Amino acid sequence: MQYVGRFAPSPSGPLHFGSLVAALGSYLQARANQGHWLVRIEDIDPPREVKGSADAILHTLDAYGLHWDDTVLYQHTRYDAYQSQIETWLNDENAYYCQCTRRQIKDSGGIYLGTCRHRTLNSEHSAVRICIDNPVAEFIDIKHGTIQMDSTMATEDFIIKRRDGLFAYNLAVVLDDIYQGVTEVVRGADLIEPTGRQVSLYQKLDASPVSYLHLPLALNADGNKLSKQNHAPAIDNANPGPALEAAMAFLGHHVPVDLHGANREELLLWGIENWQIRKLPIATEVITAF
Ligand code: GLU
Repeated sequence: MQYVGRFAPSPSGPLHFGSLVAALGSYLQARANQGHWLVRIEDIDPPREVKGSADAILHTLDAYGLHWDDTVLYQHTRYDAYQSQIETWLNDENAYYCQCTRRQIKDSGGIYLGTCRHRTLNSEHSAVRICIDNPVAEFIDIKHGTIQMDSTMATEDFIIKRRDGLFAYNLAVVLDDIYQGVTEVVRGADLIEPTGRQVSLYQKLDASPVSYLHLPLALNADGNKLSKQNHAPAIDNANPGPALEAAMAFLGHHVPVDLHGANREELLLWGIENWQIRKLPIATEVITAF
């Protein structure tokens, strides 16, 4: 089967060192497997979107020599598909409307207990939740092995469409990975936690599961994830070599001395030829250089 991987940034700011690590890791894993590598812009949350950042991200990927296959998929073009799946699930009672507030859920111990499952609510001011009848207790990560899900979280009927009308990340990511024929998801370790929920959606849909590889996460000096929200600086488009080398080293692939200062094509080629999952560090690391 043809390997299909992807990088799926949210357009909430420019590409920073942490997202370069995710882009590079998924790219190298795809190319080392003679696979396709797709880019998807996850623009399902307009309030958190930073204008111009989708184009800026694509421009940076290009400047780093991370060339994708096919055309970029924008999630805002997929709203009808998300809605139609939600309606199918509502009709066959695999999903239901819920009007519980955060406060009510907090008061019942912080976990949603299925209160609205047997109520007949309409769409107004409602979120939509999926019925979890067969909780996913664990999944396999290629690097980390078996990951056990928190058992309370695994049984929760989670939200697939928010009360404010926005589609939930878990729903959009699964429907699109299936739609794009993705066979393996490679991304930052901050997304290990929602993976169990995503696996349960594959089961609901009776879709062939994907494999997962979660990469070490870049942290800033305060121990927080480098992210667009906490204003991690953009990486330099004009001089990709140093950040590329640093990202490879972060992924446990130290470029040999005679390649120091090489151009992006030579660095990426070396990365593809020498890519080995066993070299990836498990632990998150602190990085402040970029
Ligand atoms: N859009 C998500 C993010 O930027 C990543 C989604 C994924 O790789 O599954 O954090």
